[in-house]
Amino acid sequence: MKLDNRIERSKSAALFEEAKKYFPGGVNSPVRAFKSVSGPPLFVKRGYGCRFTDEDDNQYLDFCCSWGPLILGHNNVAIREAVLKTVTYGTSFGTPTRLGNEIGQLILDNNQYIEKMRFVSSGTEAVMSAIRLARGVTGKSKVVKFDGCYHGHVDSLLVKAGSGLATFGVSTSAGIPESFAKETLVIPLNDEAILEATLQQFSDDIACVIIEPVPANNGLLLQNKAYLEFLRKVCTKYGVLLIFDEVISGFRVGFEGAAGYYGIQPDIITYGKIIGGGMPVGAYAASSEIMSHIAPEGNVYQAGTLSANPVAMAAGLAAVKELLQPEFYSHLHYKTRVFVKNIQDHCDQKGYEVSIVQMGSIFWVAFTKDKISRADQIDPASMDKFKILHHELLQRGVYLGPSGYEVGFVSAAHQPADLEEAAAKICASMDVVFGG
Ligand SMILES: *Cc1c(COP(=O)(O)O)cnc(C)c1O
Repeated sequence: MKLDNRIERSKSAALFEEAKKYFPGGVNSPVRAFKSVSGPPLFVKRGYGCRFTDEDDNQYLDFCCSWGPLILGHNNVAIREAVLKTVTYGTSFGTPTRLGNEIGQLILDNNQYIEKMRFVSSGTEAVMSAIRLARGVTGKSKVVKFDGCYHGHVDSLLVKAGSGLATFGVSTSAGIPESFAKETLVIPLNDEAILEATLQQFSDDIACVIIEPVPANNGLLLQNKAYLEFLRKVCTKYGVLLIFDEVISGFRVGFEGAAGYYGIQPDIITYGKIIGGGMPVGAYAASSEIMSHIAPEGNVYQAGTLSANPVAMAAGLAAVKELLQPEFYSHLHYKTRVFVKNIQDHCDQKGYEVSIVQMGSIFWVAFTKDKISRADQIDPASMDKFKILHHELLQRGVYLGPSGYEVGFVSAAHQPADLEEAAAKICASMDVVFGG
């Protein structure tokens, strides 16, 4: 299908051509290159609330929200003021700061699933450190991950299933030694029998199971609560640590993330995205006992030059304070539900094969009526429909992440009127996708 371009993207296009001279593929993170949708990526110059403006001065209602961190929208006043005030005193000292204590206390006092935490600078770093911690605590080496969960670009987790049932991983990236990939076992989501068989067979070697309890990096593959409870139970039974990678779900589905949502106590939790208020911050957290294995208290080494730097801590602290306001999450979730229902109703009325999967303020457009809880249930051919949808939405001033496997996020800055506007534009775009 030929897609016509009604909006002007020539400045973004020129900047992208220039960027290709400096950065591989013109970008500093692959999905930004718009490879699976049409046209050049948008070069964005400013954002406010739920909207941002590109270099061609087009305005968009943003549902990517920097891939999740911006739960308060763009350019939140409290975060901006906290950053501006803090930066006046300097950007980094490489020493502990009072601000670090403040955010540490605020988070730990309001999350019953963790007792101590360590700040790092990205979600990947949090996951990498959590895996090392699990290995250090258990003295075992293998990791179980799930097909369809993403945990950042950690070597041993850029791995997909080989052939066979509980299979040793095969790396999905060049540059990862086979011996690293072999330390990872990849199994499907939402399947109790395979999970237990794997743990039973390899429990002497398995340090941890890592899961996105709300898998949101390959569609939104919501798991049964009973399955997650089973996962907790068998990890305990076989002496394997359970890591919840809550880089997306943490502070998103509720202040206590998925652990709080499902009422499940993991052994280690990783955070990122929202925790930094839009600055580069990650964290991993656990019981005091498990965290006591981290240097300098224990013998698992992990360090960071810019870890917990005061500007990032100020941004994170300002964000976290807002999230603790009464009714913050119930308002956000309610307006997301209304938004999603508007689109779903339109699609149902027209007979389109679409389900908008939603949890809290996360949503995902699935081009099927089937309930999907595993990665292999997503039809790759449906991505052709997403490509048209994405294009039509750009023409109408709505921005979704540039891949059909990515979820969308609603922020507190999306007002009901913005969401009505967006829903109408999404419905109109769906009409084009389905030729209705
Ligand atoms: C984004 C993400 C990561 C990686 O975080 P970065 O900050 O991009 O390194 C890890 N795990 C999950 C679940 C994520 O969504």
